[in-house]
Amino acid sequence: MRALSRHVREAALVAKGAALTDHPIMAHIIPIRRCNLSCAYCNEYDDFSKPVSIEVMERRIDLLGRLKTGVITLSGGEPLLHPDLDRIIGRIRKNKALAGLITNGYFLMPDRIRQLNDAGLDYLQISIDNVMPDDVSKKSLKVLDKKLQMLAEHADFHININSVLGGGIKTPEDALTVGRRAMELGFTSTVGIIHDGDGQLQPLAPRERAVFLAMKELEKKHFSRLNYFQENIANGRPSDWRCRAGSRYLYVCEDGLVHYCSQQRGYPAKPLEDYTLEDIRREYLTKKSCAPLCTISCVHQISYFDFFRAPQTIESAPLEQASNQLVSIKSAGV
Ligand code: SF4
Ligand code: SF4
Repeated sequence: MRALSRHVREAALVAKGAALTDHPIMAHIIPIRRCNLSCAYCNEYDDFSKPVSIEVMERRIDLLGRLKTGVITLSGGEPLLHPDLDRIIGRIRKNKALAGLITNGYFLMPDRIRQLNDAGLDYLQISIDNVMPDDVSKKSLKVLDKKLQMLAEHADFHININSVLGGGIKTPEDALTVGRRAMELGFTSTVGIIHDGDGQLQPLAPRERAVFLAMKELEKKHFSRLNYFQENIANGRPSDWRCRAGSRYLYVCEDGLVHYCSQQRGYPAKPLEDYTLEDIRREYLTKKSCAPLCTISCVHQISYFDFFRAPQTIESAPLEQASNQLVSIKSAGV
């Protein structure tokens, strides 16, 4: 029944997203910047921030609801460190949005999973970076497999496991092992590509490319989401697309400012409480200079809604290519 209800709400979201352009389809919001881990490629966490208060979070969720946001996903840092996370999820549902959560999974236990069921969570995503923990990432299958089994047993919400290629991950074949384990447990699986270093797009190395192609086959078989733009990234080619960040996708930081995305914090950096339809309409038509080399899956996927309409006529401020584009691992599949 939970899955059916989710599918009905998803179908309504898709129909509304295709018919109308004046609302965000997805927002990511940060309830806490702190994380219990410190992945080497990550620029989205610290080890000291306090949680945003529940009153402020509820107000921000209501503001996203007022903008008619379709999916509101809690990200971080590690959102499960927020003491009132379930109330925030409940507030998202009260605003008639689908509720998502991106977590490193470390704090999941059977009771906690059941509480997330009760709160009304719709989606959960965990990124698993390798099979054995190393100095780049402790989000490994060895550490998290027990958590995955708990999820398979207790969760009522949809679960996606994202694995990654690039970004210093040493054994690309691990992505395939993680993807296969996800399928075995009845979850969907996606793969994200991280590009690091000087921001120049490089084709995947032959070993990584072989894994990427095998993962795409796996995705096809299990009806998981395809990321067509990733073909270009894998081949080191820029993509020709219209980024609708600031309009169809919003990133709301812990200070309550709206940014294009986690890698373009600072633009437009306007308080959510002052964000209006006028901002949404302007950003819808604003060309983002970082688009050709962007690897941020969720914004690419959302752009498909408007792919064949509304060419962008407003030039953005010059945006630097993100120096560490890890974002696909944080966002794919939710
Ligand atoms: S990638 Fe996720 S788990 Fe790793 S440090 Fe960043 S926020 Fe924490
Ligand atoms: S990095 Fe990607 S998602 Fe972010 S503003 Fe640039 S093109 Fe859009």
